[in-house]
Amino acid sequence: MALIIDGKKISSDIKEEVKTKVAALKSKGIRPCLAVIQVGKDPASTVYVGNKKKACAYTGIESRAYELPEETTQEQLLELIRRLNEDDTVHGILVQLPVPDHMDEKEIIRTISPAKDVDGFHPQSVGALSIGEPGFVSCTPAGIIQLLKRSGIEIDGKNCVVVGRSNIVGKPMAMLLLRENGTVTVCHSHTRNLREICSRADILVAAIGKPKFFDASYVKDQAVVIDVGIHRGADNKLCGDVDYEAVADKAGAITPVPGGVGPMTIAMLMSNCAESAVRMCGHE
Ligand code: NDP
Repeated sequence: MALIIDGKKISSDIKEEVKTKVAALKSKGIRPCLAVIQVGKDPASTVYVGNKKKACAYTGIESRAYELPEETTQEQLLELIRRLNEDDTVHGILVQLPVPDHMDEKEIIRTISPAKDVDGFHPQSVGALSIGEPGFVSCTPAGIIQLLKRSGIEIDGKNCVVVGRSNIVGKPMAMLLLRENGTVTVCHSHTRNLREICSRADILVAAIGKPKFFDASYVKDQAVVIDVGIHRGADNKLCGDVDYEAVADKAGAITPVPGGVGPMTIAMLMSNCAESAVRMCGHE
């Protein structure tokens, strides 16, 4: 039976560490603050924003919510971001995506100061990751590295296969595994012989957004399987991109869904926010 990588426990450990860091900052008069902007009332976004506010409350980070109407113009949103960029009491700025269709997501991301880009989506943050300079890293892949490290799984020299090349998961995941000295292959929808490539992986990261796509034939004996996908099945149960029941006996370690990668994203957002306050104020 595989080691079940406990994302609930590891994310909770990280939030405790953030809480301690935030308390130390507060004792020096620094109050870490995350500005969370939501445009419109997309129900899923409202749930995500609510979870972020709760995590802020838990860790002691102040959350400043900006709930803007659907008809907000691009310029009004950019103006708010510029104002928050200049506001020394704000350490992180997050625009909940997706934004309404009339808005330009890329321009919004570029307008957030890289110093406050706690989502790690700004081109400067992405570039810094590629060339090994300091910067914020996208929270989901950063969380996966924590899952591996804190479960005692070595990355150095391992054959790592990342399936999916999105800007928020696949690409930064590949860069982070490379930074940890993994030998990295990135697969996508044009990849030939996907099954064969995956079945050679020591560490397989599945991030394609297709429920239960990866069965045991994609997995090497004793491989580490990281399932990024989140789907709600017809039975209302959550599942991932990996067919957990089919793979769990073959894998050496595996993340469950729920309770694997999912809880790590918000924990890393909190960690980035506290780190931003440390960097901006020059305190440790
Ligand atoms: P995207 O839809 O942006 O990207 C999917 C990627 O998978 C693309 O690169 C695509 O290739 C590739 N792909 C799709 N189908 C196949 C296939 N059959 N074979 C090989 N590659 C394929 O998804 P995201 O990266 O945003 O998210 C991936 C999954 O992770 C989703 O289920 C999402 O809900 C979940 N997620 C979970 C998070 C968490 O906190 N746990 C956070 C973010 C996402 P191509 O580029 O060629 O189109």
